Amino acid sequence: MTKPNFYADVALDRAAHLRDDADWLAASLAAPGTVIIPVWRARNLVVEGEAPRAVLLPLARAAALVAAARETVLLGLQGETAYFAVDLSHLDDPSGLPIDEGSFIDLRLVGALLGRGEAGLLAYAKGILHWHSRHRFCGACGAPTMVRAAGHMRICTSAQCARPHFPRTDPAVIMLVSDGVRALLGRKAEWPQGMYSTLAGFVEPGESLEQTVAREVAEEAGVMVTDIRYHSSQPWPFPASLMVGFFARTSATEFHMNPDELEDLRWFSRDELAAGGAGIARRPRSDSIARRLINAWLRGDEPR
Ligand SMILES: [Zn+2]
Repeated sequence: MTKPNFYADVALDRAAHLRDDADWLAASLAAPGTVIIPVWRARNLVVEGEAPRAVLLPLARAAALVAAARETVLLGLQGETAYFAVDLSHLDDPSGLPIDEGSFIDLRLVGALLGRGEAGLLAYAKGILHWHSRHRFCGACGAPTMVRAAGHMRICTSAQCARPHFPRTDPAVIMLVSDGVRALLGRKAEWPQGMYSTLAGFVEPGESLEQTVAREVAEEAGVMVTDIRYHSSQPWPFPASLMVGFFARTSATEFHMNPDELEDLRWFSRDELAAGGAGIARRPRSDSIARRLINAWLRGDEPR
């Protein structure tokens, strides 16, 4: 794979070696050119419009946000410039903050319209701050946790426990099942009208990724698959998934759709899918790995 999937195109050095360097962190959080990426209740700061763009604030304009932040996380470095995400979710109304452009909106609504680099930055900031918001207390003993490693770890404040907690990502598989000529795509009732997509599901404890692919296809479509081949992966911060993309083959001629999982399931020829957007063969959103798997299949570009 040469080009990362959308939301994975983050041109930062994550600089893990600096996360415990208190002097360097303090200097970075005093440097006017340091970039601040604010997040409020899982929403990112974006200037909306036909060509939306992320608001990446130089510290010179964002010192009040850093001072007000509940969490400050070092995202990494671009050259000599440090990038930090700040969480403002504890404030009831972010409009009281001294922010002179943009508004806090759901990345899901604008992500696909942003530049790839900006979308990746916002996804990273949103994703790691989501983890902080869900790990303010120790999952083992219930005591409060506190931030360490510039926001890449939390530690339990109970002296008896003192467990470290690290950012979590939930792996999910997503797979294009084909019989060689047709692709098996499903739709969920809540999706946009006419949209069909690849099957997907979360990995369970004790499973390999390939076993999850086989189990999910069997559960949702009643179909056995072989030739499970990895394609690519994608962080999907809605809220905390890593989508791991596969192709799989089936020789089944019939399927048995699980109505608890899907509203419809169909075979599609390449011609039907290539018509994209028209009729019932609307493809998934352009920022998704599902779309990329389908496009790769349309080109005959499956891993073998
Ligand atoms: Zn604990």
